[in-house]
Amino acid sequence: MISSLYIHVPFCIAKCDYCDFYSIPVKVKDARIGRYIEKILRSAEAELERFQVESIPSIYIGGGTPSVLGAQGMTVLLKGLSGILSRRSISFPPEFTVEANPESADRDFLSCCRDRGVTRLSLGLQSFCESTRRQLGRAGESTVLSRCLALAAEFFPGNFNADLMAGLPGQDEKELLSGIEKLLEYAPSHVSLYSLTVEEGTPLARRLKESKLSLPPDEEADRIWIAGRDALEEAGYEQYEVSNFALPGKRSLHNIRYWRMENWLGTGPSASGTIIDEEAGTGMRYTVPADLDEWLFDEGGETAPAGESLDRFTLMKESILMGFRFIEGPDSSLFRRRFGLDIEEAISETLEKWRERGFVKKNASAMTGKGLLFLDSFVIDAFNELEFIRVEGFNTQEPAHRLAGEF
Ligand code: SF4
Repeated sequence: MISSLYIHVPFCIAKCDYCDFYSIPVKVKDARIGRYIEKILRSAEAELERFQVESIPSIYIGGGTPSVLGAQGMTVLLKGLSGILSRRSISFPPEFTVEANPESADRDFLSCCRDRGVTRLSLGLQSFCESTRRQLGRAGESTVLSRCLALAAEFFPGNFNADLMAGLPGQDEKELLSGIEKLLEYAPSHVSLYSLTVEEGTPLARRLKESKLSLPPDEEADRIWIAGRDALEEAGYEQYEVSNFALPGKRSLHNIRYWRMENWLGTGPSASGTIIDEEAGTGMRYTVPADLDEWLFDEGGETAPAGESLDRFTLMKESILMGFRFIEGPDSSLFRRRFGLDIEEAISETLEKWRERGFVKKNASAMTGKGLLFLDSFVIDAFNELEFIRVEGFNTQEPAHRLAGEF
């Protein structure tokens, strides 16, 4: 089987107020870090065995904050992974990304990554503004950002991403644009520009409820994001997904596999994996429980947990939901192979309606740049139309080849 691999590192220096990812704050010398590395290597190997993986197009070590492992921890992890791949005669993938945060990504960490097979770095910057960072409870002072960017440009020239956010407390257009200007001095190959989302149960949500903090109104937050998008496009970064921009040839292959719903295995607490049966047009998803201590001490837990199945209709909806995030849309031949019908047939009315408005490309089943701003409404229309297919007899169980030509 061909599958990408995601490794979740569930540690951070401190917890940001808006974050609902699974991660726990640790000190650099926390004993759980060593135990985590031993366990993650056993888990990764068990999963590759369980799914008989023969080829890995991409690996992504994310989190949490992988740079919290430090150069020493990362060396053990990367050496271990290299041993696993070589025992299984699997080549190192052409794209191997590691996430890092400025306060913990030092010279030793980056050089160890570069020297041991990592091809791409992804930096969580979010904001250059000191007061905004403080309001978000984000670790690391803004001065460390420039130092880290200089190191990224030195160790991963032309191959690093930086995350920025729009719609932050106290932020205006000028602030985001000045952050982008600073960032572009270091020539990242890729920029992710996210809009802040307020997740229930986070300290940020509580402070907003208690009126201890305020965010720019929605329209203003949208304007800030659009100003950022325009600046990135002007600088030559193509928007190829809702929040992602890349220089030519520098798109993230790993993320494109998520948007195309192609196999990935996930390991580490809270990670999930999705395996697609391309012939049947069905899938299986599993999620590792989000509990570090339980995972560390679960002796029998080295194989991925049992998963939920994705029937054909669910997989079709997910393929549309994820696929239209990508500027090239869902892979049409993959769609036909999985479901036995063309995407243009499956949601013909939705595509026609949105094409007339200039939000879907004329010659492809894909959103225009303008259309991506309204993706949520497009997906609602597409799902409503898909309900007709279900009602009219799209078989949620039968293999795709039996349906070919039926529509
Ligand atoms: S560094 Fe990232 S993963 Fe860690 S708490 Fe902040 S947002 Fe969450």
